[in-house]
Amino acid sequence: MLTHPERVLYPDDGVTKAELAAWFDAVADSLLPHLIDRPLSVLRVTGQRPPFFQRHLAGRRAPFVTCNSREGLQQLAQLGVVELHTWGTRRSWTSVADRLTFDLDPGAGLPWSRVRDAALAVRRHLASLGLESFAKATGGKGLHVVVPLTPPRPRWPRALEFARTVSRHFASAAPGEFTARTGEAARRGRVFIDYLRNTRGASSVAAFSPRWRPGVPVAVPLSWEELESQDGRPWYALRELDAATARRLQRAWQGYDGVRQSLRTSSTGRVSGRTPRHR
Ligand code: ATP
Ligand code: MN
Repeated sequence: MLTHPERVLYPDDGVTKAELAAWFDAVADSLLPHLIDRPLSVLRVTGQRPPFFQRHLAGRRAPFVTCNSREGLQQLAQLGVVELHTWGTRRSWTSVADRLTFDLDPGAGLPWSRVRDAALAVRRHLASLGLESFAKATGGKGLHVVVPLTPPRPRWPRALEFARTVSRHFASAAPGEFTARTGEAARRGRVFIDYLRNTRGASSVAAFSPRWRPGVPVAVPLSWEELESQDGRPWYALRELDAATARRLQRAWQGYDGVRQSLRTSSTGRVSGRTPRHR
C-alpha cells in the first residue's frame, strides 16, 4: 500500500514514510479524536520541492482534506504528510467556530517559564469569564490554549473579536510582558498572545501531530497541573512517544467533550478587572 516506504520524510532524523505510517497506526486511538470531522491543513513532503501546506488534494471531490480513520492516516502517510493542522470548526458547518485557539509565541530567548505562566494567566482570565480551556504544547517554542465552544456557536468574526479582546486585555494590563501585535520586534522580551488563529480557514497544529523540525517533536495535550508543576519545556519526540504514553497524555483532555459553554453564556461584555498573575 505504501509506495517508497524507505523515503526519508524528516531529513534531520531519517524518519521514513514507513516509520511515520507505523507510528500513526500505533497512536491512532489518541490522534484520531483530534482530527475527526475537521478540515485539515497538511504539511507535505514529496521530495520534489520544499514542504508545502495543502487544504485540498488534487483530484479529490471533497472540498477539504479530512481524516476520520486509521486507513485515512495511512493515506496521509502515503502522501508524505508530515504535520497535521486542524481548523477550529467541523467540515459540515465551517462558518462557525467550535473552538478558539490562543497561540502563545515567546519572543526570542524568553525562558520557558514565561510562556508557561502566560498560558496559566490566559487560562485564569478565561475562567473568570466563565470559559474552561485546555493546554497543548506545540512541539515548538510555545503553547496553545484551546477553548471548546458548544451551541450557540459564534460566527468567525465574533470569535476573532472575542479572542482579540482577550489578547489586548493582557497587552494593556502588563505591556512589558505581553503583546497583541505581530512581528518579532513587538514580542521582544514578551509573549505574543496570537488571536489570529481564530478566523475561518486558519489552523493550528493538532495534538499528536509530529513537527517537521529537528528531533521530530510531537505536539501534545497537557494537563494544567502537569504544566504548572514543570519548569522545563515539555518535549516528546516521535521516536519516544509510544501508544501508552500517548494514551496517558490524552487523558489531560478527557473532560473536553463534556464541556458546555459559549461566548454568549460567558461574561464577555465586561473585561475582568483582575490583572494577570506573574512570577
Ligand atoms: P510554535 O510553538 O513554535 O510557535 P506553532 O505550531 O504555534 O509552533 P506558529 O508559527 O506559531 O507555530 O503558527 C501557528 C499555527 O499557524 C500553526 O500551528 C499552523 O497551524 C498555522 N500555520 C503557520 N504557518 C502556516 C502556513 N503557511 N499555512 C497554514 N497554516 C500555517
Ligand atoms: Mn505558535
